[in-house]
Amino acid sequence: MNDKRFYIFLNKQIPVMMALSLFPGLAYILLGWMHDIHMRAIIWYMLIIATSIWGYRIYKSFNFDTMSSQQTADWHKQLSFFFYTIFALWALIFVLYVNESASNLHYIAIFTEIGASVVASTLLGPDKRLYRPIILILMIPLIIYFFTIGEWFGYVLTIFACVFTWVLFYAANSSYDLLMKANYQASHDVLTNLNNRYFFINYLQQMMNSLQATKKFTYLLLIDLDHFKTINDSLGHDIGDQLLKDVSTRIRQNISVDNLVGRLGGDEFIICGAEISSREKCKEEALKLANNLIESLKQTYIIERHHLYISSSIGVSLVDSNSHHANSFIKEADIAMYEVKEKGRDGVFVFDSEMSSRVESRLEIERLLHFALEKNEITLHFQPQLDRHKKVIGAESLVRWENDKLGSVSPVEFIPVAEQTGIIVELGHYIIETAFKNLLDWDNNGISLSQLSINISMRQFFHYHFVDDVTELADRYLSKELRGKVVFELTESIVAEDIEKVIIIINQLKVLGIRFSMDDFGTGYSSLSYLRQLPIDELKIDRSFVSTINSELRNQDSQAMVITILTMAKIFDLHIVAEGVETEYQFNFLNQYDCDIYQGYHFSKPLPEDDFIEYCLNNK
Ligand code: C2E
Ligand code: CA
Ligand code: CA
Repeated sequence: MNDKRFYIFLNKQIPVMMALSLFPGLAYILLGWMHDIHMRAIIWYMLIIATSIWGYRIYKSFNFDTMSSQQTADWHKQLSFFFYTIFALWALIFVLYVNESASNLHYIAIFTEIGASVVASTLLGPDKRLYRPIILILMIPLIIYFFTIGEWFGYVLTIFACVFTWVLFYAANSSYDLLMKANYQASHDVLTNLNNRYFFINYLQQMMNSLQATKKFTYLLLIDLDHFKTINDSLGHDIGDQLLKDVSTRIRQNISVDNLVGRLGGDEFIICGAEISSREKCKEEALKLANNLIESLKQTYIIERHHLYISSSIGVSLVDSNSHHANSFIKEADIAMYEVKEKGRDGVFVFDSEMSSRVESRLEIERLLHFALEKNEITLHFQPQLDRHKKVIGAESLVRWENDKLGSVSPVEFIPVAEQTGIIVELGHYIIETAFKNLLDWDNNGISLSQLSINISMRQFFHYHFVDDVTELADRYLSKELRGKVVFELTESIVAEDIEKVIIIINQLKVLGIRFSMDDFGTGYSSLSYLRQLPIDELKIDRSFVSTINSELRNQDSQAMVITILTMAKIFDLHIVAEGVETEYQFNFLNQYDCDIYQGYHFSKPLPEDDFIEYCLNNK
């Protein structure tokens, strides 16, 4: 048992033992005084005081949170000597007075001796190496004393003292076992038998304390299984539990003896490395271990005839001597691990300061985005869409956020945050409402477009209120004719979701007259079968394809891709929009292959409403 609570407990016994020694000790001086045999009591008492002062200093020097494991071991050694000494002093006073019958001092000697043994076996219960020798130090002189009386009752008392010693041992041993068991349970995870979070953090704290002394480095590896929840949900918790056990066995097989592994909870495991002399080497070893683990954990698991596969994402943080709190390193590993998850899982990243500033700026965005709507910081810009005669026929609305502190924040940055925090529902509602109002306004002012595209986030799309909200807004602002001009842009990744549900929602909105467009087409999950299944009206070729259209020969493959998409769209009877058109060459090329609508910097950047109106008027 070498855990924080154990040391704290032992340390607390020092003052208890001091109190138990200083006060009864006075009795010896007093009684000795009355019979003029006080010199030895006084000398003994001085020794007790000296030992107590020493003990007090040991007591004060203890601070688990700042001590390295070496320092803790040294401190424990001193503490042991303190207890040996102070109990040896109690054995000594017994020897000094056991033959004095004045004032029945010999009885007092016997009682204090027995009392001291009981105290030792209860106070020092958690530490075998303490209570075992100490009980012997105290009881052996007593046994010898009884034996040397030489009379029959002396022998009876000898036997009694032996039995009593055995009882003390027995009691101390059983409470020791019980404590060990309780301690094991408190510091281990029941399912996998790995160390738990509590134990791990204490271990890490000690490791950090010792790095301060050695100026070395170590690493933390945070392992999170990918999509573990799916296994748990689909195959049940028993299989999930068994998988976690198997995973923990594999982790154990991959680490060396000086690594410590723990389970933080759920499907999160953590490993602390050994002390390593340089930062580079530390990073190297961490990555090597991480890659081994990724490979090993990926191998098939066979559980109750199920063949299971699971990958893992690992975040690494390097721990050095300028350390802060143990928890902050775990947090860093966590940030790195999330970075892996975000970049597609099944891999490893080492935490760096850039990551933390990214996280900080994300948090800042998250915080300020909450107030963006009520502070009117959100506006819409409109990017014109032109037909093949370069006549404006529509626009895509693109959201803009202007914040006092952050300046103008790109939707590429804040839309994902809004999605993750759920603000997108409210924000998206505002965007749709504003776009509808604009469409109505323009129509009233004689600017008649054939379409206005609005980007819709996945989370917004699947929100249970979405259809009702859109219906309500459409009823409020748009005539039947205007509704037919609204296009909702969905990204391709939507097909990775429940496709049946997507179709249902789309059809509900189509009843209103709203049309649908597949944004960023060609970048992700594009599949012909989905294209046929989904009731969409329009495809937007992603601008990464459009950008490859130039006179260079080496881009012929992607140009062929553009041609294929255009041909395919015709077959499925879809309108096709090319976004990111930046040159006349691109326009001509796309025109040649029958592209319907064009959007891009070549014609105009996204514009604030007034500028957009002006653009439309000039375009006429
Ligand atoms: P997106 O839907 O693919 O929007 C097109 C992006 O390409 C816009 O960036 C636009 O300014 C930019 N762009 C247009 N023409 C060109 C060009 O010729 N060259 C280049 N290099 N870029 C061009 P923006 O406005 O920064 O929007 C980025 C993304 O943010 C959008 O990509 C969309 O996914 C998201 N987003 C923007 N507004 C909204 C919104 O109102 N709601 C939701 N849910 N997402 C939005
Ligand atoms: Ca778009
Ligand atoms: Ca796009």
